[in-house]
Amino acid sequence: DTRFANQYAIQWFPGHMAKTLRMMEQEIQHVDASLVLLDARIPLSSLNPEIERITARKPKLYALNKADLADPAVTEEWIRYFHEADAGCVAISAKQKGGANAVKAAIEKELSGLLARRQNRGMAGAKTQVMLCGIPNVGKSTFINTFAGSARAKAADRPGVTKGKQWVSTEKFDLLDMPGVLWKKFDSKTIASNLAFIGSIKDDILDVEELAMNLLDEVRRNYPDLVAQRYKLDAETLALPPYELMEAIGRKRGLLVRGGEVNTERCAVMLVDEFRACKWGRISLERPPQRDDMADFAEED
Ligand code: GDP
Repeated sequence: DTRFANQYAIQWFPGHMAKTLRMMEQEIQHVDASLVLLDARIPLSSLNPEIERITARKPKLYALNKADLADPAVTEEWIRYFHEADAGCVAISAKQKGGANAVKAAIEKELSGLLARRQNRGMAGAKTQVMLCGIPNVGKSTFINTFAGSARAKAADRPGVTKGKQWVSTEKFDLLDMPGVLWKKFDSKTIASNLAFIGSIKDDILDVEELAMNLLDEVRRNYPDLVAQRYKLDAETLALPPYELMEAIGRKRGLLVRGGEVNTERCAVMLVDEFRACKWGRISLERPPQRDDMADFAEED
């Protein structure tokens, strides 16, 4: 079902994103490597195929950012998944207080290793130039602040704030910060929904009630206890159809309009906000595809 995705395609691929892709095509030729930030909660859905295409010919490190919001066990699985595909990958939390050194050390170690393996650099002392890219809201500005320890990049709670082109230097690296970029057409409704859940698609073009219902429906499959605990739901209520579940939560929270009906829009906004603020707990919305399953399937065949 690509209707959902197509419906939003044209409205939310703004001109500045097309411009960013052209800029990236130019810049990639001059850097040594790329660092692609992914969201640890949705590593594959936040993997922009356009960025993949542009960065394909140079060494690349994936950083699963916002690991503090994701399910640690699933993040471990993702790291293994990337490593099995021979891709450099590290989990970080750019925002965590006091975590700056950990983030920096992890990135520097992985990148140096990657570059040492893939190329023979004869330019001792020269800084490695790295292009930093990722989708909107993945944490690029926050990462730059953490990594470079400067207040040059300004983080914002809404997507689309990082604009233009800027270099940020550390002792070993020159990082080229690229604006966040999405892609024109999603392969699946799941990808579009996942990006919407984490706030990488501007909320004002989405139906917040549909977003909240889809989110509840998705999360209760893998984390029923977290949803039940957060909103004090019994098993029967938790199993209700999504709209009724949202109403039940709204009623519990006293989000009513005159006449006693639930204000479902306010409830939806509350749900999405609380999910994004990690109030439900640490949740991963995506798990690695099981390679073993495919092997079993082939054997049976
Ligand atoms: P950009 O659009 O890619 O530059 O993203 P920002 O750096 O502006 O970050 C978007 C939002 O994510 C902000 O509210 C940040 O505070 C938040 N954020 C960034 N990194 C992390 C992280 O590692 N953990 C958590 N919990 N939040 C983060």
